[in-house]
Amino acid sequence: MDLNWKKGKMKLWKRSDNLKEGGTSMPNCQNCNYKWSWLDTVKIGFMNNRKCPNCGERQFIKPQTSKGIYALYIIPLIVILFSRPLFDWSTPVFLSIGILFVVALTMVMPYTIKLSNEQEPLW
Ligand SMILES: [Zn+2]
Repeated sequence: MDLNWKKGKMKLWKRSDNLKEGGTSMPNCQNCNYKWSWLDTVKIGFMNNRKCPNCGERQFIKPQTSKGIYALYIIPLIVILFSRPLFDWSTPVFLSIGILFVVALTMVMPYTIKLSNEQEPLW
């Protein structure tokens, strides 16, 4: 019994290690294949283009992925806005939920981004 529990824990540990290493989660520079850090990827998410920290080549977000990002932001925001009267949230509660949401999405955003060498039209 005890042994089985330990095995289960080991499996969980391995899984979280895989998550940490990220596999394909962070995007690679399309010029030098350098794996971008989470922070660099967040920055390109907000500015749409950014120089690669390794080779200095300017990288852009692939439009398919940036569309996904906007949907990721807009859909939950709409849901929050419309659910406000339902739950009768006070303004501070509403604001902190909104801020939490933006923070959570910013944490997740780099995992959805892919890089491109050229700026492609957004729509
Ligand atoms: Zn590069």
